[in-house]
Amino acid sequence: MDIFEKLHTNLGPLGKHSDLSEGYFMFPKLEGEIAPRMKFKGKEVLTWSLNNYLGLANHPEIRKADEVAASKWGAAYPMGARMMSGNTDTHEQLENELATFVGKEKAYLLNYGYQGIMSVIDSLVDRKDVIVYDSECHASIIDGLRMHMGKRFVYPHNDMESFEKQLVRAEKLTNETGGGILVVTEGVFGMTGNMGDLKGIVKLKDKYQFRLVVDDAHGFGTMGPTGAGAGEAQGVQDQVDLYFSTFAKSMAGIGAFVAGDANVVHYLKYNMRSQIFAKALPMIFVEGALKRLEMIRENPEHKEKLWKVVNALQNGLKEKGFSIGTTATPVTPVVLNGTVGEAATLSKDLRENYNIFCSVVIYPVVPKGMIILRLIPTASHTLEDVSETITAFEAIKDKLTSGYYKTTELAT
Ligand code: PMP
Repeated sequence: MDIFEKLHTNLGPLGKHSDLSEGYFMFPKLEGEIAPRMKFKGKEVLTWSLNNYLGLANHPEIRKADEVAASKWGAAYPMGARMMSGNTDTHEQLENELATFVGKEKAYLLNYGYQGIMSVIDSLVDRKDVIVYDSECHASIIDGLRMHMGKRFVYPHNDMESFEKQLVRAEKLTNETGGGILVVTEGVFGMTGNMGDLKGIVKLKDKYQFRLVVDDAHGFGTMGPTGAGAGEAQGVQDQVDLYFSTFAKSMAGIGAFVAGDANVVHYLKYNMRSQIFAKALPMIFVEGALKRLEMIRENPEHKEKLWKVVNALQNGLKEKGFSIGTTATPVTPVVLNGTVGEAATLSKDLRENYNIFCSVVIYPVVPKGMIILRLIPTASHTLEDVSETITAFEAIKDKLTSGYYKTTELAT
């Protein structure tokens, strides 16, 4: 059979509703300055779908720093992998500042979050080791686990009883193989907004002698008194052996880093294949990240503004009877019930008639019959944006419960 034959039959998660999808539900194009109000299909929409928690993407000082770095370095410098010819003082300065910020001895830069976390996981374990991980971990973590040649045991999301059961299994197995146990979870889960139960996890560290990697993509810059993330928020940052975050969310940039004890970071520098065999993070992103980090450190008002918006949005939604699950972070999931077809038409209605642009999450990301409207608040949103959105959601919810999206001509 031609390997390509199956391709045209796979219409993605929307299945037969995919006629609505391309350019609309999937791969939509938001145009204009990065801000809460952008253009979608020529019309202004209020967007809740940008990973720009602190509103830094379009901050004038950040834009200026990016411009200066681009004119100084172009897009190419440095040429080559860090290990070969692509190292600079600026890369090392950023690593030192990141390490200090998250309370670790050393940090190492990664080119992208996705392959960065994969490579961290891959380089830490061999076939004798066991990985224990949360069932809701991000795809990049799962792909990292897939590269692991040894056993991996999953526990249901944040379920500490099951977690311990998996540790017991892992301990038994590693006693036989002579390997160790690596626990991988997230600081903030990007779909539900739940924090990983880091406090619960570290309680078992002494008993089972495992090492803990935390992917804090959504927690960095948003959580904890200084913005050092979910570990700081839960008072256990010192027990997180390896702290990872991307620059793609609070930093509104590109790149990522991993931080931990000096000897571990040293090992990673010499063993992470995705970094050894790839060109270094370009200087424009490194200088840009230094400026962003400075702003996160020295301008806490961005985080305070973010949380004002988060509280107004989440309290407002709850007051109007919406379920927002168990989020404890800025990620705001509005949980509704309906079919995939209803989700597609609801999304169209929301974007076209209410001018609200948010992610609509459906099966298989969430269970069948559930629709999540996922909102990512930012420091750039206003309280008026919040009220406008809640009013629109009330209308959408009424239509959904009355079966409107089943019967209207919008439904396909
Ligand atoms: N880990 C988590 C938990 C993420 O949410 C993301 C981004 N969606 C990544 C890793 C990947 O980061 P990047 O976009 O920098 O590749």
